Amino acid sequence: MTHNPSPNATFDAAHQFARHHVLPFFGAEAQSRLAGAHVVVVGAGGIGSPLLTYLASSGIGHITLVDPDRVARSNLPRQILFEPADSGRWKVDAARDRLEELAPHMQLHTHATTIEEWLAATPNALSNVQLVLDGCDQFQTRLVVNAACIAAKIPLISGAMIGWEGHVISFAGHLPEAPCYACWVGEQPIQADTCQTNGVLSPLGAIIGGWMAAEALKQIAGNTPTTYGTMQHINVLNSTSKTRQIVKDVGCISCNAPSTLA
Ligand SMILES: [Zn+2]
Repeated sequence: MTHNPSPNATFDAAHQFARHHVLPFFGAEAQSRLAGAHVVVVGAGGIGSPLLTYLASSGIGHITLVDPDRVARSNLPRQILFEPADSGRWKVDAARDRLEELAPHMQLHTHATTIEEWLAATPNALSNVQLVLDGCDQFQTRLVVNAACIAAKIPLISGAMIGWEGHVISFAGHLPEAPCYACWVGEQPIQADTCQTNGVLSPLGAIIGGWMAAEALKQIAGNTPTTYGTMQHINVLNSTSKTRQIVKDVGCISCNAPSTLA
């Protein structure tokens, strides 16, 4: 479903984004690039909820959101886009209601389906998209999104969380020196732990989703330092954070195939 912004509403961008306009490395020019940007968000869950909120409130002009699930009561502690009355609704529908209130001038396309189905059904789905943000909880889905980003020659900002920990990494497998998601995890399916069985602390989503939003704004703004492959790992139980560099795997079949080299 598509939301088209009202042409009659008044909107003073200089006033609304005044704090970005005076921000070093940012300014009005970067803010205008956010307004012209189109990003795809995979998942409106515990990471996607704060991520979408900050992308919308920060002035991203066009978001495509893909999520196949309905809101459950057990989602509510983390998924702050939703309220108890949304239980049973498609997440993309409930998210649209909230995001339209927050950013009425933003173009929002929502799809209540899996990212695999959406990519398969949508020719050139990622053309004219600046980057993809993936906060889903499925390993195989992450590999599909990774391959689509490499083919479209756009960055992938990936976030995950479980228990008391989470991480954020920016990939750009289409670039000769930058890793892709498969460079890090390989191509073989793994039996990953899940939040359903291991639990997750609710506010972790705000940390991971907020960090992903900051990375997206930086990359779209330009003129800011971006290091692809740098993993930011956070453990709130121990109050620690670590940085680790993921490097490109020259044997990775996802990003080293001749047709995908930049
Ligand atoms: Zn790779």
